[in-house]
Amino acid sequence: MVSRVVSNGDVEVPTIGLGTWRLTGNRCRRAVETALDLGYRHVDTAQRYGNERAVGLALAASDVPREEVFLTTKVFGTNAGYDDVLDSTEESLDRLGVDRVDLLLLHWPNPLVDVEETMAAMNRLREEGKARHLGVSNFSRRQFAAARAASDAPLVTNQVQFHPYNPQRELLRYCQDEGVLLTAYSPLAHGGVIHDDTLTEIGARYGKTPAQVALRWAIQHRNVLAIPKASSRAHVAENLDVFDFELSRAEMETVTNASPFRTGLAWVRGRLGV
Ligand code: NAP
Repeated sequence: MVSRVVSNGDVEVPTIGLGTWRLTGNRCRRAVETALDLGYRHVDTAQRYGNERAVGLALAASDVPREEVFLTTKVFGTNAGYDDVLDSTEESLDRLGVDRVDLLLLHWPNPLVDVEETMAAMNRLREEGKARHLGVSNFSRRQFAAARAASDAPLVTNQVQFHPYNPQRELLRYCQDEGVLLTAYSPLAHGGVIHDDTLTEIGARYGKTPAQVALRWAIQHRNVLAIPKASSRAHVAENLDVFDFELSRAEMETVTNASPFRTGLAWVRGRLGV
């Protein structure tokens, strides 16, 4: 099965990508190779994850041609200064073993650097062909609007935490109104959704797991794509198998269950790596 794509006119992105946070070395390489083998065509990494080299080795080892894979990396927030954006991205390309990435994101807003400066460097990389598309991550609606205004090239996405407990209503509406994509990170609430009773019950109606219901819920929102991380072949396969059922409007509303507590828990689980 190959992931479908979500598009806003500027860019087409496979709707399900493989997240790789906390996957390093051979585990990362194996997970990426498995994902490509199973039909994934979108991989998300970052300078901060310490796994760009492993991702690159998996891409090189795979039979899937490089041009068929949508590859994202992220400039870490502390590299937001003009020269640091340029230098650190060159290093990323080198570690990944590619000439360009499909999407280059600024990982976090950096209050110490004007966003105009960061955007100028990212736009230069795009003009030089080292990044096909640009975007940001962890930006509020207001910060995202400012970054978009500062960039010559369109910012195609804001990658943020998005799952049933953190439905990001304000930012989602902004992205949909403005025709930009919202990339859902931690779409499984870092594993927090997998024992959710409501998701279990809804999933049983379709023969799907709670994880699949959470992913389906995410990508059923207009302009939203998701990048679940999984390491086992079974989980990697399961997370791509979400295109053959549809949640009703009522089920979408039931699944949406904003919970600052569970959102915080997902955050803590991620930080602790549990
Ligand atoms: P996630 O994708 O919400 O959840 C990952 C956890 O769920 C892992 O423990 C995984 O276990 C488990 N899992 C995956 N598929 C499953 C399934 N089908 N059934 C049961 N359990 C399953 O968490 P995340 O890693 O925080 O987020 C995903 C990706 O988003 C990251 O890897 C990263 O690429 C990106 N991200 C970006 C930022 C940012 O600041 N931009 C922050 C966080 C994350 P196994 O590994 O054992 O399969």
